Amino acid sequence: LVSPVVTLRDGLELPQLGLGVYKVDNADIPAVISAALDIGYRLIDTAALYGNEESVGQALRESDVPRKDIVVTTKIWNDDHGYDAARRAFDASMDRLGLDVLDLCLIHWAVPEQGLYVDTWRALIDLQEEGRVRSIGVSNFAEPELREIIDATGVTPSVHQIELHPFFNQARMREVNRELIIPTEAWAPLARGGELFTQADLHQIAAMHDATPAQVVLAWHRQIGTIAIPKSVSPERLRENFESLRIELTDAQIDLINELDRGIAGRTGMDPATMRR
Ligand code: NAD
Repeated sequence: LVSPVVTLRDGLELPQLGLGVYKVDNADIPAVISAALDIGYRLIDTAALYGNEESVGQALRESDVPRKDIVVTTKIWNDDHGYDAARRAFDASMDRLGLDVLDLCLIHWAVPEQGLYVDTWRALIDLQEEGRVRSIGVSNFAEPELREIIDATGVTPSVHQIELHPFFNQARMREVNRELIIPTEAWAPLARGGELFTQADLHQIAAMHDATPAQVVLAWHRQIGTIAIPKSVSPERLRENFESLRIELTDAQIDLINELDRGIAGRTGMDPATMRR
């Protein structure tokens, strides 16, 4: 089973289904990454904030899967905004990951109040030009800041990673991304587990596909065109989530899932417009 890919504007092929490792302990990383790579995952999403870049790098080196087949994402944290600070943070992440070249680097949050996101974006632009990172994008930008970095630099992010799941489906931000030709990547694609999986509609759709609610939600992501990075530390769930690639929902089923949207009440995380350091 192989994930379809989305080709970004700079040519990087981003698998549409990947693995997020937020809150995965260093002790668990080797087993989780090894299981995920065996199952077929080829996108690993970490961040300086997650405190596990070192063990992620080590797990990748220990794998038989060639480095060139794996897309590694990390992110610049809010304390490291500004041109020089962002470059230093990138170097530190690369030291911890132990990689020669990174695949994808994102600004983790815009932090508008701090006002340093344009300088931070310039640092990523230069790092890409220097060949140290193949692709650069952003995460958690509201529309004004997203447009501002593009207008200020002439460089459009290759991808925009935002909170997105059936309770908070981000129709408006997806529309903005589409207009700017920026693929949308979904964090917390399963709404962090929990209440989402109690929805009767999801259970009904799942029964029709002999699938689980999680698989239905991940098929919905794929079919609406988002890139999803669900997190799990259990080999069974890692496989279950990857097997969602076999499921094809009908348009009517996609519409039903679209109706689960609760607008901003569905958020599980912070609002990019007001996120502070
Ligand atoms: P998620 O929506 O992926 O939910 C993860 C939780 O869902 C797991 O802890 C597990 O308990 C449960 N789960 C997973 N598979 C399941 C299954 N098949 N059945 C039942 N339960 C299942 O939430 P997340 O981990 O917060 O987000 C995913 C990834 O997104 C993170 O690991 C991280 O890489 C990224 N992320 C990025 C940001 C950002 O600011 N850019 C913020 C949060 C997360």
